This record gives sequence, C-alpha cells and structure tokens, in this order.
Amino acid sequence: MTAGAPSQDVLDVVIVGAGPAGLTAGIYCSRSRLRTVILERNMAGGQIALTELVENYPGFPEGISGFDLAEKMKIQAAEFGAELREIEAVTALRREPDGCYGVVTDQGTLRARSVILAPGVEAKRSGIPGEAEFIGRGVSWCATCDGALYRGRTVAVVGGGDSAVEEGLFLTKFVDKVYLVHRRDELRAAPIARERAFANPKFEFVWDSVPRRIVGEQIVEALEVENVKTGVARRLPVSGVFMYIGQLPNTTWLKDVVDLDEQGYIVTDALLQTSLPGVFACGDAHANPLKQIAMAVGEGALAAVQADRYLDELDCPAPGAASAAGGSAAAPA
Ligand code: NAP
Repeated sequence: MTAGAPSQDVLDVVIVGAGPAGLTAGIYCSRSRLRTVILERNMAGGQIALTELVENYPGFPEGISGFDLAEKMKIQAAEFGAELREIEAVTALRREPDGCYGVVTDQGTLRARSVILAPGVEAKRSGIPGEAEFIGRGVSWCATCDGALYRGRTVAVVGGGDSAVEEGLFLTKFVDKVYLVHRRDELRAAPIARERAFANPKFEFVWDSVPRRIVGEQIVEALEVENVKTGVARRLPVSGVFMYIGQLPNTTWLKDVVDLDEQGYIVTDALLQTSLPGVFACGDAHANPLKQIAMAVGEGALAAVQADRYLDELDCPAPGAASAAGGSAAAPA
C-alpha cells in the first residue's frame, strides 16, 4: 500500500477509515476485484492500534496486541490490492450529477462509484478545568502510549466502562496506585474486567464521584472530584489523569450528508445502506448495538459485499473513466 497523488480516475469504492471495519471492507472489496482506496486520517488500525492486548477476538486464544492485529489486517488488505492512504483526512462527501461520489480530502478529491464509511470514534472530553491545559503534561486518553511515563506514580482513571477498567489494569504494570473514579457505585465494564479490577490491590475505587478539576503547576498534581450523593469534595494526589468517559463518532463532516442519530452515529438499514444510495456504513461510528472488533469486522465484510452488489447494478462511469473533479479540492456539498 502506498501513498499517492489524488486519483484522476473513478474508483469503485472509497473506504473512509482504516480501523478493523474499514480494513476488513478493504480485504473484501479488493478480493472482489473492486478498485479500492482506503483513506485514514491517522495511521491504520483505529482504536485497536492503541490497545495493549485484545483478548476477545476469535482465533487468538493467548490474546494479540491491538497493534499487531491491525498490522495483520492492513497487510491482508494490501495483499489483495487495496490502496491505503494514511494521514489523509476526509472532510466532505458529495453526490455528483452522474451519480458518483466526490470524496473530498485535505489533499484533493477522489471520485468513486460507492463509498464505505468506517470513520470510527474518538474519546469524549470531559471539559473540566485543567483537562485541555494539561494534555501531554499528565492528561491522557491512551494508557498504552503513555503508561510507562508513570512508573512508580499514582494516577486516576475516570469512567466505569470497559475502556476505563481495562486501561486502568494495564496501568498497574507501571504505577503504584490507580484511583478509579466512577460516577456510580457499580461498574459498567464486562464481568471479567470487573473481577480483575476488584482483585487488583493497586486499585482504589472512588465511587459516586465525578471529576471537577485537574490542578498543578507545570504538570498534573491532583484531581479534584466531588461525590454526587454527598456533595463532598476530595483531592486525589495524582501525576496522571486518564479519561475514559465514553466515545464520540467521527461524523461531524457527515452532518447534513447522511442520516445520523441524535448522538451522531450513522443510521443505516439492515444491510448497512445509509440514506445515500451506494454509501454504506460499518464499525463503531455506525448506530449499532455492539462496539466490538468482531462486530466491526462483520460489518466491514457486509458493507463490502453490499457495495459490490450495488455496483453491479449501477449506471455510473466505471474505473478508468476520466474525471472532471480529480485532484482538486472542492467545497463540501
Ligand atoms: P462506555 O462504555 O460508554 O463507558 C463510559 C463510562 O464513563 C461509563 O461508565 C459512564 O458512566 C462514564 N461516564 C460517561 N459520561 C461521564 C461523565 N460526563 N462524567 C463521568 N463519567 C462519565 O465507554 P468505553 O468504556 O470507552 O467503551 C466504549 C465501547 O467500547 C463499549 O461498548 C465497550 O464495551 C467497548 N469496549 C470494549 C472493550 C473490550 O471488549 N475488551 C474494550 C474497550 C471498549 P455510566 O456507567 O454511569 O454510564
């Protein structure tokens, strides 16, 4: 897979996002001999590339590092001919008069006969004072990336879901203590993660509490929390704060382009067709009930098969046809 100049031709499929859903769609599209480009605003892999160990993806009974799993998917898509362009962000999608789609990126415009949206999610910000100021100086959303910096220290993890608990457990490899700050007195995380956290002597649970402020001089020195039942404030002396209070879909650029639900997730029919013909959605940014790699992979496969079927019936220039829009950035539709 290579980076390249914007295509002058009409592609069969442009896939937006190279997490498990987008990469799987790439494997299936290229095996169907569709001319396929996968666009990824960061490096391929999505959220899993930042995950230390994936234990619940079938076929890897010992678990597999998220980075390695993403790499394998990337290699597999390349094997069959998908072109991956990393560090190329999609900013707009528009339908053109001939029925093709213009996929506008920060480097130009690609024309495609169909589009698969797999833009994934990103960590939600809490917006509390200190959060933005201390990014890179004690505030993080990535234990895998930053955990080793906190060797021998005390950190706080905020949230009670799978991310908070699993990332907190990962942090115990390095830190002396993890305060897990959760707004309720019961974890949302899966039972196996809960059991591990409760059994880990480095965890101290700060129940019924929300973060109010991150304080420090040059670097983080404490997290101030408030008990939502009693109103009592508490200052946790920590060097790091890891926020895992949920995720937001990367779909702001799709507002008014395809139907989104009230939280911004992409709405589709049962066969992953969005409100635009020939545009399909899969993975964590899709309004589906399960945010798991296995789900993303299954949806990626289905989206690709549906795109292939759609193209069989489409009356739109086939690959190789010259493009009027190729190479020039254009305003969003
Ligand atoms: P999540 O499941 O939405 O959990 C977010 C947590 O943050 C919840 O405990 C929530 O509390 C809390 N929260 C939300 N807003 C808050 C606020 N403003 N202030 C304080 N706390 C707040 O998010 P996630 O853990 O990132 O997981 C996202 C999805 O990925 C989930 O479906 C999860 O199962 C999946 N995932 C799976 C794995 C795995 O299978 N190994 C690993 C990671 C993530 P409440 O509980 O009270 O709502």
